[in-house]
Amino acid sequence: MSLSLPSRTGRRSLTRPRSIARVLVACLLLGAAPAAAPRFVPWIDGTADEPETQVQRIDPDTYVIRQSVRTNFEAPFLYLLFGRDRALLIDTGAGGLRVRPTVDRLIATWRGAHADRPVRLIVAHSHGHGDHHAGDAEFADRPDTRLVGLSPGAVAAFFGLRDWPEQVGRYDLGGRVLRIVPTPGHEPAHIMVYDERTRLLFSGDMLYPGRLYVPRDQTAVFRASADRLARFARQHPVRALLGAHVEMTRTPGEDYAMHAPAHPDEHGLALPPAAIAELDRAVTAALSLEIDRHADFIVYPVAPRAP
Ligand SMILES: [Zn+2]
Ligand SMILES: [Zn+2]
Repeated sequence: MSLSLPSRTGRRSLTRPRSIARVLVACLLLGAAPAAAPRFVPWIDGTADEPETQVQRIDPDTYVIRQSVRTNFEAPFLYLLFGRDRALLIDTGAGGLRVRPTVDRLIATWRGAHADRPVRLIVAHSHGHGDHHAGDAEFADRPDTRLVGLSPGAVAAFFGLRDWPEQVGRYDLGGRVLRIVPTPGHEPAHIMVYDERTRLLFSGDMLYPGRLYVPRDQTAVFRASADRLARFARQHPVRALLGAHVEMTRTPGEDYAMHAPAHPDEHGLALPPAAIAELDRAVTAALSLEIDRHADFIVYPVAPRAP
């Protein structure tokens, strides 16, 4: 997220995804067995003393870093993916802490397991809101590191996208191909990153268990991105979505107050792939977007951002 707003009560229209049938049909079509979503131990949630970051490993090349809600109420999730030659860090946090020591430690550990193999670090962003790039300056002088810019033009240029936002990009970390899906709307430079190896979709602030902010003057752009994402997901098997925040409890449709200092009984980080079609239906069906509560996310229109 990254918008400070008074809490509002919206109409409740809890929609249950018809997920099981859809997943089975998708798997039959794609000839793939359904892989389970990654399992995590409970994340740090501000309810007790906790470190500034928590790392959980999905596999030896894939790490999730959670920033403590005590350092910043946004409590974002960052992702670090290793290929043979390069590592991609998605986002650098919301500020209120130093994130580079955690990233450097993970890279040193990975290199230790790979005969001290050099690995170039690419620092990119789910999008340009401040709660996702506050740590960028920590990486400016890091050796063998490339910091990707925040504008749509900079993102498109780095990933070789000549037709933003229609073109899906391809980026190879070295034996690990990522697909870059432009998804402007929440913010103009928003992307999702799909990992062909794990079939995980790193979904940023567009789709996660929380308030999906859509500036009212960006409704059509957001809808087009939801359509683009749904098309992509029909052609690529998605195991789970991993977004940049969690702002909901385990009670379907219920979010925490804005700026909540702790997240007791937090919703899981992963969303099922069925959430993609559910979001697409929700934003396509509505003539004008209203606050629209679903079990696992809330479509949340907001005033246009000041330029
Ligand atoms: Zn955010
Ligand atoms: Zn955002």
